[in-house]
Amino acid sequence: MKGTVYKSTGSWYSVKSESGKFYDCRIKGRFRIQGIKSTNPVAVGDRVIFELEQTSDTVTGVIKDIEPRDNYIIRKSVNLSKQTHIIAANIDRCFLVITLNNPPTFPAFIDRFLVTCEAYHIEAILLFNKVDTLSEEEFGEVKYLAEMYREIGYTCIGVSAKTGKNVDQVKDLMLGKTSMFSGHSGVGKSTLVNAIESTLDLKTKAISDQHMQGQHTTTFAEMFDLSFDARIIDTPGIKGFGVVDIEKEELGSYFPEFFALKDQCKFNNCLHLEEPKCAVKDALENDELYWSRYQSYKQIIEGDEENYRRNVYDQ
Ligand code: GDP
Ligand code: ZN
Repeated sequence: MKGTVYKSTGSWYSVKSESGKFYDCRIKGRFRIQGIKSTNPVAVGDRVIFELEQTSDTVTGVIKDIEPRDNYIIRKSVNLSKQTHIIAANIDRCFLVITLNNPPTFPAFIDRFLVTCEAYHIEAILLFNKVDTLSEEEFGEVKYLAEMYREIGYTCIGVSAKTGKNVDQVKDLMLGKTSMFSGHSGVGKSTLVNAIESTLDLKTKAISDQHMQGQHTTTFAEMFDLSFDARIIDTPGIKGFGVVDIEKEELGSYFPEFFALKDQCKFNNCLHLEEPKCAVKDALENDELYWSRYQSYKQIIEGDEENYRRNVYDQ
């Protein structure tokens, strides 16, 4: 039988079959691991092949194989073993919920998110939430940011989870897809998801950020079907998925507007830093690219993690 993993608790997986029935499944024996070594061979979102097993009074399943993944997001454990954990697989869209001031979401954070989505091959969408609270000046700032990211190629929507403004546009983008919602605590993720589907009570909020800090807590993602043709993957306690293992040389390809100019740089391995005749630097000087994007690029490439964390998390 074929099915999709909706939930995992470590040793058991809840798998929804093609006919819409849920089965508790296990993995038996050795399992052929695809691509990477991880602490969990099967993750939420995986499309699996399973067989049913009848015990005295229950029917359970045994997962035999995983179909090739479109993509997957991982997290590395903080301890020395640096083991990889697959958070979820086969994600179509990742929505970043952003607020300008309450709490602030800085461009450095947005750019990290976008780079991560590019690296993972997940479509990123920026939602500027709480537009109902904006002053005229703040509205102008949001408009500037949205236009900048739109120009680069990302879909941006101003929304209000509170008044429901443009929530239908978000639902349209979710249609037929599997989505995730990300963003700082307090930006309105729960409120927005609630505006999309009022019966869905995601656990994203149940675990406070304070509680999570400095702790290695094992949390499990879970997928939910919505009342319209859409699925959401909830990742309780996962504060965001960082840029994992990106080589300096490949970073430029995750900034689409830099990547578009790459062939015009003198050196084909140009990092757009100190190299002569760099098309990216030239475009910046001519105001054809955004400096804030370049600053983010430099911060990531120089591995300025400490500065990044100070700016992004210590609020
Ligand atoms: P989360 O931590 O990202 O899940 O954020 P919450 O959904 O808990 O929202 C944090 C606070 O912002 C709550 O007090 C919400 O009522 C409020 N909030 C969320 N969205 C909006 C919005 O669009 N407009 C206004 N005015 N408040 C909002
Ligand atoms: Zn260059």
